[in-house]
Amino acid sequence: MIKTRGYAAAAVKAPLAAYSFERREPREHDVAIAIKFCGVCHSDIHQARDEWGGSIFPMVPGHEIAGIVTATGGKVTKFKVGDRAGVGCFVDSCRACAQCRHGLEQYCAAGAVWTYNGREHDGTPTMGGYSDKIVVNEDYVLRMPQNLPLDAAAPLLCAGITLYSPLMHWQAGQGKAVAIVGLGGLGHMGVKLAHALGAEVTVLSHSLKKREDGLRLGADHFHATSDAQTFTKLKSAFDLIVNTVSAPMDWNPLISLLKVDGAMVVVGIPEGQIPIGAFGLVGGRRSVAGSSIGGIGETQEMLDFCGSHNVTSDIEVIPIQKVNEAYERVVRSDVRYRFVIELESLGAE
Ligand code: NAP
Ligand code: ZN
Repeated sequence: MIKTRGYAAAAVKAPLAAYSFERREPREHDVAIAIKFCGVCHSDIHQARDEWGGSIFPMVPGHEIAGIVTATGGKVTKFKVGDRAGVGCFVDSCRACAQCRHGLEQYCAAGAVWTYNGREHDGTPTMGGYSDKIVVNEDYVLRMPQNLPLDAAAPLLCAGITLYSPLMHWQAGQGKAVAIVGLGGLGHMGVKLAHALGAEVTVLSHSLKKREDGLRLGADHFHATSDAQTFTKLKSAFDLIVNTVSAPMDWNPLISLLKVDGAMVVVGIPEGQIPIGAFGLVGGRRSVAGSSIGGIGETQEMLDFCGSHNVTSDIEVIPIQKVNEAYERVVRSDVRYRFVIELESLGAE
């Protein structure tokens, strides 16, 4: 077994603290990775606080993992020692269902094996990237573009793919008016990616505080959802709205901003249920859909796209000892735009 050090939440809502555990030795098709950086996703906070229910403790969160391959199993063909490697939100799936066979492993019928707060096929709880090492089957490991710094590229593995996948599926591009709701970790990647794809991009943020940032990141327009006029001015304006907001909010006024046949794709996962009025949908053949990260093939495609368009996340790198403070700041939306933990800081303990 491989001795691994990290940070874990011991119980629901407990602050994260130093934690040692063991990972399996690499099997034939496994890759061992020294983790250099791991992004802090709002999903880490939802799960460490058990806001979605069913959390497994102790929990080592983290699914925006970037590092260097340190060992490979005897039958590994895709990676060699020294390669830059990434791991996103899942580390295995059944490989046999229709979704797995079509590159949609995130929707695996048997349930993808989530990188943390999940269970391997043998029942072992999974532990994520707030740790110094990880062992993953090569088919679920990504190649990180050579030209992108590993710290700023780490958030692509969740925030990046979570926006890239719906933008591609709903064909955001030239001639399309796309709104991104919520300018956080996911939202700022949405602005960069939609802009790189050639769409006309609007940010809908709860205030105008992040306006300058939004325009710098590539938005053409920026509006506050706290201003009632936004909803009169932008009525029926968008082909596509991607909603990244992590807290409960009324979705009906947003639906009224869709053109006929427009779609609002929900990627934010607030606690609880949100009611939707039928009139808003019926009155414009509008749809509301959801989307979860992306498959392995699509995640690699997104990484390569980001490599060729020089797209990375705007980050604040922190030592792991600051992770609890970072959680508080994320909840207050006080982050521009992704915290990334530098795992070397574990060595200082
Ligand atoms: P984040 O960095 O905290 O960003 C969320 C943004 O939502 C904030 O920056 C803020 O934007 C807005 N917001 C927060 N509280 C709000 C409130 N009370 N009212 C209105 N707006 C509010 O979080 P993230 O890491 O981007 O994650 C966003 C959500 O996506 C989380 O729920 C996360 O679990 C989920 N997620 C889903 C997937 C998926 O596959 N579908 C993947 C990763 C994460 P403004 O300041 O601009 O208003
Ligand atoms: Zn995430």
